[in-house]
Amino acid sequence: MTMPHAPFLPPARLGVMGGGQLGRMFVHAAQAMGYKVAVLEAAPDSPAGQAADSLIAAGYSDALALAQLGQSCVAVTTEFENVPADSLALLATHAFVAPGASCVAIAQDRIAEKRFLAGCAARSGVPPAPHKTIATDADIDAIDELLLPGILKTVRMGYDGKGQAVVRTRDDVRAAFGAMGGVTCLLEKMLPLAYEVSVLTARGFDGASVVYPIAENVHRDGVLFTTTVPGPNVSPDCAARAQQAARVIVEELAYVGVLCIEFFVLTDGSLIVNEMAPRPHNSGHYTMDACVTSQFAQQVRAMARLPLGEVRQHSAAVMLNILGDLWFAADATTQREPAWAELLALPGACLHLYGKEQARRGRKMGHVTFVAPTLALAQAQLAAACAILGIAA
Ligand code: ADP
Ligand code: MG
Repeated sequence: MTMPHAPFLPPARLGVMGGGQLGRMFVHAAQAMGYKVAVLEAAPDSPAGQAADSLIAAGYSDALALAQLGQSCVAVTTEFENVPADSLALLATHAFVAPGASCVAIAQDRIAEKRFLAGCAARSGVPPAPHKTIATDADIDAIDELLLPGILKTVRMGYDGKGQAVVRTRDDVRAAFGAMGGVTCLLEKMLPLAYEVSVLTARGFDGASVVYPIAENVHRDGVLFTTTVPGPNVSPDCAARAQQAARVIVEELAYVGVLCIEFFVLTDGSLIVNEMAPRPHNSGHYTMDACVTSQFAQQVRAMARLPLGEVRQHSAAVMLNILGDLWFAADATTQREPAWAELLALPGACLHLYGKEQARRGRKMGHVTFVAPTLALAQAQLAAACAILGIAA
């Protein structure tokens, strides 16, 4: 007897759109469970392409390549948020696609995302920041003073703080809007952040959802610097509210796959939902070493229509991103390899490097997670690591 929606079992081939580090870690997790993996990526020697069983070297909109990927795989996922939703819809005519095109379409458009999150607020209890769409000069004239100072963000393709400008006045908005080439933007009120958190969730094909422990994130220059779990600032009440909101959001989307939701905690303790990523997330890398089921193993399970795995965290964890800056000495001309041996001598150090040939300043080259029986011990190893790597702690 065949089940109506039998899971896709190993050694079936799974597909992933995108060749970056998130794809690489997905490939590793899928292969560890006995699956074959095909990667679609145009760039040569990509992090995921290096690890894949098969590579389709093509752009994300190449119809022939998409057909080839869809026909060779039982299920396809994405590691890159900005894969055209149309490409996912086309893939869905050949294979099971998770997350679905409609969910990815919402996450890749800040206006659709805000509208969706605002629509969830009655149930989730957590609203997005006050905001307004800026598409024309008339929109700028109509800005409510209450939205200033604010942050102007491009509606599409923003990441790691790119495509954003701080604006204090209406004239600032005009200048920033012009500098962004007049593409449609979202103006968000600048909020008094106490700290930032994210909640990783996953929902399976059967509709069951899981919520990981809440993670506290520190950014530097718009890029994630550390993730600490449990978050030193996070109260049990704040964690409960964010996790409940995450559960509502993933259910409202009827999502299948891994979804990460970023929140702001304001100085008055209130919670604001910022944005969502329809894939594993940098702030969820700690799950690889500190939880029973990593976010990548969870991505495999969801797309393969398997039961989701246990999210229990078994060790305190601090994750440090490793940027290309570490390869450059202070004089900026000579390149050197960071002191991995010294780093790996620290207790609980779990090093992950993404196989990127060229180190560039600001480029994510890898991460290291310190796991320990207590948070204080993990934090002590982070401090030691910063000293070894020459990072200002
Ligand atoms: P990205 O897609 O680049 O991650 P985000 O919307 O998450 O864009 O913004 C990047 C960072 O900018 C956030 O992590 C936060 O530190 C800051 N930020 C964004 N929006 C606001 C806001 N409305 N008020 C205060 N800080 C903000
Ligand atoms: Mg963000």
